[in-house]
Parts: sequence; structure tokens; C-alpha cells
Amino acid sequence: MTNMEQDRWSRVKGRLRTSVGEDVYTSWFARMDLESVHDESVHLSVPTRFLKSWIQAHYAERVLSCWQAEMPEVHRIDLSVRTAMRAAVPVKDASVPQIDPRRVERADSRPAAELRAVATAPVSASHDALGGSPLDPRLTFASFVIGRSNTLAHAAARQVAEGRRGDPVMFNPLYIHAGVGLGKTHLLQAVTWAGNSGNERKVLYLTAEKFMYGFVAALKTQTSLAFKEALRGIDVLVIDDLQFLQGKSTQAEFCHTLNALIDAGRQVVIAADRPPSDLESLDDRVRSRLAGGLVVEMGSLGEELRLGILKSRVAAARAHHASFDVPEQVLEYLSRAITHNGRDLEGAVNRLLAHSKLNNQPVTLEMAEREVRDLIRPQEPKRIKIEDIQRVVARQYNVSRSDLLSSRRTANVVRPRQVAMYLAKTMTLRSLPEIGRRFGGRDHTTVLHAVRKIEALVAKDVSLSDEVESLKRQLQNEP
Ligand code: ADP
Ligand code: MG
Repeated sequence: MTNMEQDRWSRVKGRLRTSVGEDVYTSWFARMDLESVHDESVHLSVPTRFLKSWIQAHYAERVLSCWQAEMPEVHRIDLSVRTAMRAAVPVKDASVPQIDPRRVERADSRPAAELRAVATAPVSASHDALGGSPLDPRLTFASFVIGRSNTLAHAAARQVAEGRRGDPVMFNPLYIHAGVGLGKTHLLQAVTWAGNSGNERKVLYLTAEKFMYGFVAALKTQTSLAFKEALRGIDVLVIDDLQFLQGKSTQAEFCHTLNALIDAGRQVVIAADRPPSDLESLDDRVRSRLAGGLVVEMGSLGEELRLGILKSRVAAARAHHASFDVPEQVLEYLSRAITHNGRDLEGAVNRLLAHSKLNNQPVTLEMAEREVRDLIRPQEPKRIKIEDIQRVVARQYNVSRSDLLSSRRTANVVRPRQVAMYLAKTMTLRSLPEIGRRFGGRDHTTVLHAVRKIEALVAKDVSLSDEVESLKRQLQNEP
């Protein structure tokens, strides 16, 4: 891909981000890559079938118009699923994380044929039998950098990974949640690699998507006895991106699987982008079962952790490209500038590597600044939780949080409650029914009424509008 195409692509992504907002962008578009541009058509790719169908169903027009704003001649967007990479179990205890040179080049273009060749590499038996999701050989404990925000999650994951067949299970399920790019998949795959490399236990890693389309379908064609038999072979079930689990029958299967495994003393590990209580589409029984184990949140990556991740990535790259060197000054610059997530840190190292290889130039600060410009974002909006909103609103109006959730209808709690529901609707991605549930089991129409009411009041009541603004600021700025 030419530099011009790269630049264009960066600008299109910028437009898309502005157009759909940061949250939607990171949920659906962060992993979209440009494959090629030919005359009137642009070829983009995403890593999963689910993302592809979601983007096609909801954002096809939007993506096209963002392209047209840059290149009016574009009339078609082709979206494909990138061939997943499968690889053999890595050497146990490899202390140097591996980086696959093919993946590095991928930053610019990914030759499909080459990847298909990789896709036929052997995987562990249990993955084949039950259709596990592909694993990335680089995502191991050895390459996982520990910092303040992930110490607990890492320790819990390690504990799970080191368990032996028949050991009592300490926390079940282990539920890890965090925003995009903060290391969930890395940690889950590390558990899977570590568990399977001893070959003592069978660890099955599935994305929720794989669970929906593959696993459930496969199980449905078998008798329930065969189903139980197959499950008996799994010691640890690892499910990634649970927030994507959709559909009543899938959820019923999931619930069934979860119960069967937990009751049989098998370990379940789950990752999602939100806590169990916020998984709106799951029914209460599943939610409470999920919350019944250990729930750990991984926070955003601190600067020190970002520096550690960069160093680990550079060290991995150096294993294959001995001449690649990134001065300390550049690493520090990157760790300060790229605050968003680990995916962008990885991208930055890949670009520096590609650039220094292709142009045969050492990495300098100027080059780094140029190469990562589009990865540097304005102040990141914070992930706001309904509990935070309730806490901050209660404090501001001097009522208790339980007042807000109660059915009391006195004026001194009705208004704060409406304000809190309004903020929940405007500052989070939660749906009206979910907000109602979180406010003491109210109906979604009550929430809608509150939202409309406050919207109308804010438009004409200056002091209320100031109050709301101040609440928003407090929520954005509180740690
Ligand atoms: P998530 O699944 O939470 O969206 P990933 O696990 O895919 O995020 O992480 C995104 C990128 O950041 C990956 O390249 C991953 O290796 C890297 N990363 C995130 N956290 C860490 C960490 N603590 N140590 C090393 N790499 C990390
Ligand atoms: Mg992930």
C-alpha cells in the first residue's frame, strides 16, 4: 500500500471516529484494516464474521460516505473477514515472546495466501474436536506485562492456568472485564496456552461468536449424551468477548454449558467489555451465576505499563530483526503519546519496524512522531458506570443512593433520580430497560419519561443545566 493510501485511510478512520463517536468506533471499527483500493472500490477487512455482518447491517452507508468524503470516486466497499491465524502450541516456557514477521508486514498489507498457509498449522486436539477459536502464539504469560491496573486479573489468571486436573476450583467462573485493547484476549489466550502446553488439561478457548455459530451448532447435531461426553473432556472453558453473545437459544445453551461445567468442578474463564450486571441481553440467572465467581476489572494502561508493553514488543521484534532498535527516548515518547490501548502500542511498534526495514533507516524521534500521528488521540472519554452516576448524583443532591433506587416519590428524590437516569442514558451506552433495571427495577417508559423531562428542563432552566454540566464534569474527571 502506498503512503498516500495509508494517509487517506487514516483520514477516513478519523472521519468515522468523529461520525460515530469514540465508543462505537472502538467497539466496531478499531480492528478494521484497509486491504486495497482499486478504482471505485475499497477492500476492507475485519477479524470476525460477526463484526462483518454487524458493520454491513448498521454502518455500510456511513463507511462509504466517509470514504467518499476523501475519494469521491469510490462507489463500493467490500468487507471481508481476515483469515484467522492458527499456530502450533509454542515451546513451553519460552522466555522471549515470539513475533511472527508475517504479522509485522501485515501493518501495511496482508497477503491472504500466505496466511492461509499458516492456517493449516496443527492445533491441539481439543481445539479441533470442539471447534476452538484460533490462538495467537504471541499472547502468552511470558509476554504479558504486569502493572497496577492488571495485577489482580493476572494473578487470578495465573492461578487458573496453574491448576491441575482434579484440583479444587478456587473461583468459578473467573470473569475479567475491561475496555477495548486492555489485554483481555492476551490474558485469556495465555491461560489457554499455559494450560494446554502441559497437555495435562484440556483448555478450550472460544470467542462468544464461535460459541454462537460453531459450538452450539455442533452440539445440536449430537445427542445430549455426546454433548456431556464432549464437555467432560474439557477442564477449562475460556470464553472471550461475552458481550457479543446474542439470541435466546444461544444463551440457553450457554447457561446450560456454564452450569454443567461449574457443577462438574470444571473451570470457566470469561472476558467481556463490561461487568456481568451490565450484560443486558443475558437473563438474570446467567448474570448472577457469572457474578458468583471472581469478577475482576482491568483498568486503563498506566504510562509505566505502556512503556513495559512497548519494550516487550520491541524485544519480541528484535528476536527476528536483530538490527531493529528503538531508542529509550522514542519509547518514552510513545508511552506518553499513545494512551488509548495496547492495540495501538502494538501498531506503533509494527510501523516503526516496517518503516525502518523498508527504508533501511534507524528509528528516530522525528520518524516516530510522523509514523504514529494518527494513533495519538485527544483526551480519551472515560468509561462511565451507572453506579458512578448514582454515587455522584446522590452526593450532589445530598440524598442516599438507596433513595435514588427506592420507590419514594417526594420531590427531593424525584428530581435527582430523573437527573441520574438522564445522565445514565446520555453518558453510557446502556439501553432504557437496562437503566430501568439498575434504578430499582423501573419500567423503560419511566426512564424515557425522565430523560425527556430533563432534556426539556435543561433547555430552558439555566441553573439545572449548570448542575447537569457540573455533574458531567465530575463524572469525567473523577478517578
Ligand atoms: P482486549 O482483548 O482487551 O481488547 P488485547 O488482549 O487484544 O485486548 O490487547 C491488545 C494489544 O495490547 C495486544 O497486542 C496485547 O498483546 C497488548 N497488551 C495489552 N495488555 C498487555 C499487557 N499487560 N502486556 C503485554 N501486552 C499487552
Ligand atoms: Mg479481545
